[in-house]
Amino acid sequence: KRTQEKTFPYLWISIVISSLLAFILIYFMTRRLIDPIRQMNNLSKIIAAGEYTKRLKITTKDEIGELSENFNKMVDALEKNETMRTRFVSNVSHELRTPMTTIKGFVDGILDGTIPEEKHTYYLNIVKDEIDRLSGVVTDLLTLSRLDAAGQNITFEDFDVQEVIRRCIITLESLLVGKNLDLDIRFCSEFLYVHANKNAIERVIYNLLHNAIKFSYPNGVIRIITVVEDGLAGITVEDFGIGIPEDELENIWERFYTVDKSRSMDGTGTGLGLSIIKNVIEKHNQTITVESQPGIGTKFHFTLALSKQ
Ligand code: ADP
Repeated sequence: KRTQEKTFPYLWISIVISSLLAFILIYFMTRRLIDPIRQMNNLSKIIAAGEYTKRLKITTKDEIGELSENFNKMVDALEKNETMRTRFVSNVSHELRTPMTTIKGFVDGILDGTIPEEKHTYYLNIVKDEIDRLSGVVTDLLTLSRLDAAGQNITFEDFDVQEVIRRCIITLESLLVGKNLDLDIRFCSEFLYVHANKNAIERVIYNLLHNAIKFSYPNGVIRIITVVEDGLAGITVEDFGIGIPEDELENIWERFYTVDKSRSMDGTGTGLGLSIIKNVIEKHNQTITVESQPGIGTKFHFTLALSKQ
């Protein structure tokens, strides 16, 4: 009985101490859990208001830390998207405005007599070129927005990609002849059936070939190779023209990016071609790569799924 009486207060003390400890422990653990969530909640409100500069502080290495890290990555992606969107809109406005200013200037000059009559044809031809350029930009923009809107839902069919290459060559023949360019065509077999979106792939090949012609030196060669490798069709378009400096290589896929406007030998080009190409190839879950050396030439290579038949 006595010992019971003696130990009784100790029992209470230990119960009180352990509950206190448990309470403190639970308090800190809940804080560790609640604090980041509260931070995330606050930050998501800031992001919703269109401000992308703030990030969460990552203090732990557990699941909450991982969640915060992924949250930050999501904000990074949103910020990048937003910058791209703003830059795109300002590029579009610029690309449309510049030719319009030229057109207006010349048409005004003709109407008010500042440009003498014998020069009318000359300036009207420039106006025509600018209108062609404008309509090119608008077509490219429509293609891009259609591709964006299509999401992953583009339709695939089986067709001979070499036939498409031949068709593109015929369409571009006058440009090839104009620069006296030779073609070195190395097809891997008589037919190469792929499973892809025919129109989109025709666009890719046309753009690559058009660029190869544009950036080739006169009297040069353009090489087109098809292969079957690792169960995929591989298509290469290679030119021996002006090439692309190494530090520019990663930028060429960006919308409206042109390495140097004056270098494009015919002065045409919207800088949208390669971004359309990249978009199309990504929609096909395939890859496109580029190798280039200034003054030596450029080689674009992309893959396509083989037709199963
Ligand atoms: P563009 O309409 O100006 O050709 P693209 O998106 O097709 O636009 O190409 C972007 C830029 O990449 C071009 O302006 C050019 O500077 C560079 N480029 C593309 N293809 C080639 C090539 N075959 N040789 C050299 N430079 C190229």
